[in-house]
Amino acid sequence: MSPISRKTVEEIRNAADIQTIIGNYIPLKRAGSGFKALCPFHREKTPSFHVNPQLQIYHCFGCGRGGDIFRFIMEYERVDFPTAVSLLADRLGIRLAYDSGSDRTPRTDRPSLFRLMSAAARYYHQILLKSPAAEAARVYLRKRRLWGEAVERFQLGYAPASGSGIISWARKQGFRIEQVAAAGLVIQRDRDAEGARYVERFRDRIMFPISDEVGRVVAFSARVLEDDPRPAKYVNSPDTAIFRKGRVLFGLSQARQAIVESKTAVVCEGQIDVIRCHLSGFPNAVASQGTAVTPEQASLIRRYADKAVVVLDADSAGQDAAVRAGRILLGAGLEVALVIIPADSDPDSLILQRGPDAFKAVLDNQTDILDFHFEILRHREDLRTQSGVSRTAAALLETILAAPSAIQWDFLLRRASALLGIDEAFLREELRRLRRRQPTPLIAEDPHFKEVPHPEEEISLAELLLKHHRECRELVSRYLHLEDLQDVHCRSIVLAALQADREENIRIPPDPASTDEPESQRLFAELLMRPSRVEGSEKTPQEAVREVLLVIRRKALKRKRAQIQRQLQYCSDKCETERLRLESKQLMVDVKLLEQGWERAVPLLEIQEIT
Ligand SMILES: [Zn+2]
Repeated sequence: MSPISRKTVEEIRNAADIQTIIGNYIPLKRAGSGFKALCPFHREKTPSFHVNPQLQIYHCFGCGRGGDIFRFIMEYERVDFPTAVSLLADRLGIRLAYDSGSDRTPRTDRPSLFRLMSAAARYYHQILLKSPAAEAARVYLRKRRLWGEAVERFQLGYAPASGSGIISWARKQGFRIEQVAAAGLVIQRDRDAEGARYVERFRDRIMFPISDEVGRVVAFSARVLEDDPRPAKYVNSPDTAIFRKGRVLFGLSQARQAIVESKTAVVCEGQIDVIRCHLSGFPNAVASQGTAVTPEQASLIRRYADKAVVVLDADSAGQDAAVRAGRILLGAGLEVALVIIPADSDPDSLILQRGPDAFKAVLDNQTDILDFHFEILRHREDLRTQSGVSRTAAALLETILAAPSAIQWDFLLRRASALLGIDEAFLREELRRLRRRQPTPLIAEDPHFKEVPHPEEEISLAELLLKHHRECRELVSRYLHLEDLQDVHCRSIVLAALQADREENIRIPPDPASTDEPESQRLFAELLMRPSRVEGSEKTPQEAVREVLLVIRRKALKRKRAQIQRQLQYCSDKCETERLRLESKQLMVDVKLLEQGWERAVPLLEIQEIT
């Protein structure tokens, strides 16, 4: 796939109104010349998320996230840049144009991995449908009544025991072996006598493609056939550039529409349960896939649903695990109910043996998380004693605290009061006490988002250039030694500002086609949106920028001197040693000069080194 053309990206940027687009996701309130809202990326009670329509950027003063409209879509929808562009293009009715004729060698980037995985899913699917080697797999699927519609709708496939030939297939398709390895389809082994260095990860297994929420295949879950003595019933793809365990839900792309319509997601444990549900009139089923529900999966569900119904096997991980899963889903702001499938069955076998109505009856008999938890505690504690009631109340309050909103607390507190027969006001007081003791952590925090530290003086320079472009540009372009900037993000912002003839023409860095590095853009938005440090101070922007230029140069010279000192330690040549000593001495003099104010230091700034 060629990259989306720069022209289309700009066309979308011009057509998209940031406050309208963001306003479709979260309610915006007018604030001064802009808008503000409760930040969708971190939990807060007072709005620190700001949208600036003039600059067409957003920035959160709470968590520091920010950027342009593409960045917002990427962060909110958790998609990559090309997907964000095409989502916006769809909404605005703009046709995507691609750069043609770019015949660069394929790299192991995300778009090419998506392409490879989709093609591999089709490949395994064809083997299952047609290959003689897949006969046992076809028999097995027929026996489990997963043949036909299930195979088609979920694009099931088969990887034969002798190896599926994925390596030679990939070569024919134009994928390099490194890409196939990066996608997790093969495992690299040491070179043996024949020189084969890769072996297939999946052998003699039914292949279940796992897709992200927009339907792109990102991984496989591979299941053994019946009577297979191998201990691992399932082998899954490893984490790759496009897949992280616990961050996708099996069946979500197929279930998304039904979840939106019913506002409810049915959360099963296994993928076969999900397939059975979809085939039997429960199209809103998804699976957490073996692992317990993660906070990431919970917030993924929350994007489409108001409520999650967790389906548990009677013999599964146990009731405490169910409460933990329930709390995680509550933490995403979902209403949570649980159902237990009768002993010795799961949704798949229940539906097969007793029909969809039996499963519907189970779903209708769902228990709210709090009632479910109370039911467990009731059997453990003696509710005729004061200590038994106290412990039960404390445990229930713990569950209530998992919910992020005060409205949910209110609702759950009333229920807890009814269950325990304790006055609601007392419970409320106790909740407040508990809450003070353990501040609730951000449950759905993105582990990949970290504040990157930047050198203070370089930040100041970038900020002055952005906010006082007219006053500062000339000075900076004349006196800044660009190589003195240590921080790539500050440097890209400074460059963007220097390249613009007027403040209005500053373009957001970096080039939008390569937004793998979001920090420059985030920083750009932050610097533009935060209050100017110069305004209200004694200094003019010119004075401030001169000071900063001196500091930056001074630091650069000091770094250079430190480097010379290190060289001196290892230098055995006498002439060279003498030269280095002199240079070091001169640098000291220069540093001192730079400390004596602009007028005295300026000749030094004008010297452009030749290195
Ligand atoms: Zn925030």
